Amino acid sequence: MSPQEKLQKIHEKWFINCVTDLKKTATQPVPGHGNPQAHVVFIGEAPGKAEDAGGVPFVGAAGKFLDAMLRTSKMKREDIYITNIVKYRPPNNRDPLPEEKDACAPWLYEELNFIKPKLIVFLGRHAMNNFFPELTISDAHGKLIHKQFHKITTEYFLPLYHPAAALYNGGMRETLIKDFKKIPVALKKIG
Ligand code: URA
Repeated sequence: MSPQEKLQKIHEKWFINCVTDLKKTATQPVPGHGNPQAHVVFIGEAPGKAEDAGGVPFVGAAGKFLDAMLRTSKMKREDIYITNIVKYRPPNNRDPLPEEKDACAPWLYEELNFIKPKLIVFLGRHAMNNFFPELTISDAHGKLIHKQFHKITTEYFLPLYHPAAALYNGGMRETLIKDFKKIPVALKKIG
């Protein structure tokens, strides 16, 4: 079985085993997508309307902006892997509830421990606070963090502003574009 097929099997297992009320309102699950051997995994919050319709993460306006930033850093979607804390769209894009995050957590840990990326990039405060509840995104964005967790093998983390938040805020957008360029630098440093 190829790494892609093995990862698909993991997703198919969690399509059944993930128990959350979000399944009643979402169109379909939105599993992580991309290269199962990626060095970088991006983690967002939860699928939005476009992702719920397509079944693929970050395909709406925020995803287009993300693609543009990947291009400027000479990275392609095929090189990276992208997923969300919560795999089902919350109704009206409300923030996911703690129990919805908990329901999807083992799925997230399993995909991360299968891919074993060198670096995890958080897209926004929700993804960051899932791992680092004590940090604020205004302080932590663009700063490489080293920490060992029991549940995952990855030890390096880079929080960024969420592309959806930065889309309509010029200052944040500039900062995100600048922070994004730190990804290849961080990867080189990690080795
Ligand atoms: N925002 C997210 O956090 N995730 C997506 O998949 C799309 C938008």
